[in-house]
Amino acid sequence: MTDKTSPTTFADLGLIPTLVERLEELEYSQPTPIQSHTIPYLLEGCDLVGGANTGSGKTAAFSLPILQKICQQDKPNSRRGNTVSHLILVPTRELASQVAYNVKSYSYHLRNEIKTVAVFGGVSANPQMLALRGGSDIVVATPGRLLDLVSSNAIKLDQVQTLVLDEADRMLSLGFTEELNKILALLPEKKQTLLFSATFPEKVTSLAQHLLSDPVEVQLQSAETSTLVQRVFSVNKGQKTAVLAHLIKQHQWRQALIFVNAKNSCNHLAQKLSKRGITAEVFHGDKGQGARTRVLEGFKSGDIQVLIATDIAARGLDIEKLPVVINFDLPRSPADYMHRIGRSGRAGEVGLGLSLIDYDDYHHFKVIEKKNKFRLEREQVAGFEVDDDQSEAYFAPMKARAKPAGTGKKKKKRNQ
Ligand code: AMP
Repeated sequence: MTDKTSPTTFADLGLIPTLVERLEELEYSQPTPIQSHTIPYLLEGCDLVGGANTGSGKTAAFSLPILQKICQQDKPNSRRGNTVSHLILVPTRELASQVAYNVKSYSYHLRNEIKTVAVFGGVSANPQMLALRGGSDIVVATPGRLLDLVSSNAIKLDQVQTLVLDEADRMLSLGFTEELNKILALLPEKKQTLLFSATFPEKVTSLAQHLLSDPVEVQLQSAETSTLVQRVFSVNKGQKTAVLAHLIKQHQWRQALIFVNAKNSCNHLAQKLSKRGITAEVFHGDKGQGARTRVLEGFKSGDIQVLIATDIAARGLDIEKLPVVINFDLPRSPADYMHRIGRSGRAGEVGLGLSLIDYDDYHHFKVIEKKNKFRLEREQVAGFEVDDDQSEAYFAPMKARAKPAGTGKKKKKRNQ
């Protein structure tokens, strides 16, 4: 972690009055830690790796210095042709839209001077091509659509001064390697590069080094400052749906976001909940973009109470005051666990991240705990107590527990 003193106002950080005034209007009374620790360095032009809990204000941390940089530059030279000066890459369409919305909101008083365009797939490219004409100051993009627009000459990347990888570990993961490499090859050598995320697995950090020049590193992830409570419930195999329905009815959450691992599991679970009297909508990559947007808007506005989603909803989405996230299936990646539950407990609000684990999940949940450096007490839901041979105690050392009858095969597995 770096050691720049933590000023208490946005003005102290060196931001110009127009931006400070706007942040006051948005009721950002003071900078969050990631903002205080990064903005001064970013204004100086440093490359930076920024890590902080989900929902801790990273978007403003990287976008405010970009806005200031644009304001302080010679305006007539900044936009021309189909060029872009500052490029923010994100992994999902919804995040592109959300980040662009926030950037436009922060630059509201500069709206005649700063042009921000969101480009992402799943919708017609024509309006995006039109918007890019004449050049843009800031483009927030998903990699695939950006490359499509490059190949149709709708955008040129050779004037990029700042590159931001939001959800950087995801952007640097295998799924994006090819597209990201193509984009990087089109960017000028000299630029400011910023990587932001709530999680930085080690191999990603080393992979990122070649992108950065003498970077400042700010890592502020901390369980202590998190306002998110995590709980894990052990359940019998085959009873997750019953337990989930029970919890939803018992707690009467205003909204609940439920994660599963596959697109068809979304529909399947929605049908099963429906039989138990719970209406749920689904959000996954097989839905058309129109439907995705409608469902997400409906959930954000509170019209939809229960949303079942795949990991396309795990990263970055800011759903105001979301009371609970439930892992019906555990995510494969420990980093995704943090991102999923991080949809709740944002911006200092109290939140809840619940996981339902059955016999098959015990080991993987331990891996998730270990990698993310926490340990939770296993709880049970009253009325749905776990059968002895399915409980975690089954995995306890021999001396702690007598070998249960007729389970020799499973015991062997544990000892392998
Ligand atoms: P982010 O992590 O960028 O998605 O931000 C999470 C939430 O915190 C968003 O709803 C932001 O509007 C809000 N936020 C960001 N910075 C501040 C701040 N300094 N004060 C209050 N809210 C903030």
